[in-house]
Amino acid sequence: MKRKKRQGPKVQAKRVTFPEEQTIPWLSMLMEAYFIADKGIALEISKRLKRGEHLACKKGCSSCCTTHVTIPIYPLEVVGIYWFVIEKILGPERDQIKKQLANFEKGKGCPFLVDGACAIHPVRPLACRHFNVFGTPCRPGEDPYYTRRNDVLTPNEKYKQRALACMLPFHGIKEPSEKKRLARAGILDTMVKNMQEIEWQNLATRMDGHIVTKTKTG
Ligand code: SF4
Ligand code: SF4
Repeated sequence: MKRKKRQGPKVQAKRVTFPEEQTIPWLSMLMEAYFIADKGIALEISKRLKRGEHLACKKGCSSCCTTHVTIPIYPLEVVGIYWFVIEKILGPERDQIKKQLANFEKGKGCPFLVDGACAIHPVRPLACRHFNVFGTPCRPGEDPYYTRRNDVLTPNEKYKQRALACMLPFHGIKEPSEKKRLARAGILDTMVKNMQEIEWQNLATRMDGHIVTKTKTG
């Protein structure tokens, strides 16, 4: 008799789209890379949920955003954040972000955390997407990668490499086999920066010169 496949809770990735992708090729690359990474994350989370584990991460839980001060970020991701903050963040949140960016100091947590939520959620870096914790939420100041490694999701390497390969045309690498080879060889690792090392004050200045008058959500 054919065995019934065991069903379980399933997490699904959703492709975030912006109309501007029609005219900004790098934006399309970035959003596709995030979609691929999110699919890998959803797959790995679903596997653990099926085993009866409980995902601790949820909206409003954000101590990781102040505790982690070594978040890697790739060049295209920085460009994406600049674009999103300048073009998409409006109203009081824009004022708050601008203030946080202008006053940003290394080691003081992420400047994009507003009222316990990520203000750049659709374009948050791969590192933030990949960091998922099971069991209990992180205590303030706790990095579960060191305190309880087994509770931290291990990213799906295949999807991660595919996501990184998706970013390579931004650096002039377009040929599919070359993209695959260089992504595997870790070419982007030579360009990665720590989010805390970026001079985010420059972004606050750029926001000053750019007035957004209407909502343009993706
Ligand atoms: S990583 Fe920790 S602090 Fe961040 S959302 Fe998940 S459980 Fe909460
Ligand atoms: S980018 Fe968003 S998710 Fe990542 S550390 Fe900052 S606030 Fe948290």
